Amino acid sequence: MLTLNSHPSGRHFLQIPGPTNVPDRVLRAIDQATIDHRGPEFGELGKAVLTGIKQVFQTESPVVIFPASGTGAWEAALVNTLSPGDRVLMVETGHFASLWRKLAGRLGLDVDCIEGDWRRPVDAGVIGARLADDAQHRIKAVCVVHNETSTGVTSDIAAVRAAIDQAGHPALLMVDTISSLGSIDYRHDEWGVDVTVAGSQKGLMLPPGLSFNAVGPRALAAAETARLPRSYWDWREMLGPNAKGYFPYTPSTNLLYGLHEALAMLAAEGLPQVFARHERHARATRLAVAGWGLELLSLDAAAHSPALTAVLMPDGHSADALRKVILDRFDMSLGQGLGKLSDRIFRIGHLGHFNDLTLCGTLAGVEMGLAAAGVPHRSGGLQAAMEYLTRAPERVAG
Ligand SMILES: *Cc1c(COP(=O)(O)O)cnc(C)c1O
Repeated sequence: MLTLNSHPSGRHFLQIPGPTNVPDRVLRAIDQATIDHRGPEFGELGKAVLTGIKQVFQTESPVVIFPASGTGAWEAALVNTLSPGDRVLMVETGHFASLWRKLAGRLGLDVDCIEGDWRRPVDAGVIGARLADDAQHRIKAVCVVHNETSTGVTSDIAAVRAAIDQAGHPALLMVDTISSLGSIDYRHDEWGVDVTVAGSQKGLMLPPGLSFNAVGPRALAAAETARLPRSYWDWREMLGPNAKGYFPYTPSTNLLYGLHEALAMLAAEGLPQVFARHERHARATRLAVAGWGLELLSLDAAAHSPALTAVLMPDGHSADALRKVILDRFDMSLGQGLGKLSDRIFRIGHLGHFNDLTLCGTLAGVEMGLAAAGVPHRSGGLQAAMEYLTRAPERVAG
């Protein structure tokens, strides 16, 4: 018997920015007999999820579903479209951008990286300038992270598209939406994205184990000539059987049941409402942080993430010690600082299956933890968030 949770009663608060809390509805949907993935029943499920998922990406293009974590979909985006030695332009917004960059390097791509201070979004002007300098069009792809989960900073993808267009450059645009899809407004088609990468365990409210590539027409064309080795990740192998709702190898059938249910939940709430809900909870969280007298990691107000909030610790105080007190005393998990932010920040996830009282419980746990751990702060953060939630309307108009 695993004894992972020593708390005898009540629910664990999983307030890391992914994996997120899985709704009971989704858990129940997953809890069904696994069926023959080549049988007649499966095709209906496959067609329903492969069609339904397009709405979440806001695309008419095919979406490929892999039985893998988000990292697999990063690799799939690159190996399907690029050839050995191709140059890619990446922007180091934080830890996840730097991991994608490392992955690209290991695949034999020539990575040109725009460095960043991990507190700000992608600067589309710098991308535009790099592309304008690349008169020979050696850069084959621009890769950016939409919501940098390690920092709580969201980048403007439409602005990146505009910068690429303004430079008149043919590079493909690839975007990681692993922690934004289903929680922050994202438009694959309207923003002219060629490949969108996503995962199941964040905004989509599913357990880890599925990942996605939305594949635009230019990316599909690039897949015909790309020469990086690929087999498991090959889109072309997927798209044939996908047309009838089937997969070339065994799919994660039970996670697809869960996806079907999660898509129904997102559709019932409506994407505009889902996005507004996340923005509202993020706003309340930032008011709490200000109320505590603590500093946000994100420096650009227009780029504060609707999905999570990263909070800097006062000098000389350990974020990991605080997180340990909160876990031991209040049974809540908060996100740790990643990479060079290790022990410097904690991250509050407020994405996915979430409501006002989930947020209040989360913020109460932080506020009690700050006091219990002896971290200098003012009380009243939770109060500020509650006052905002009480007066700010819960539903978007229309
Ligand atoms: C979580 C996350 C990843 C990593 O995804 P895995 O599912 O752990 O492979 C990559 N990018 C971003 C932005 C993420 O939030």
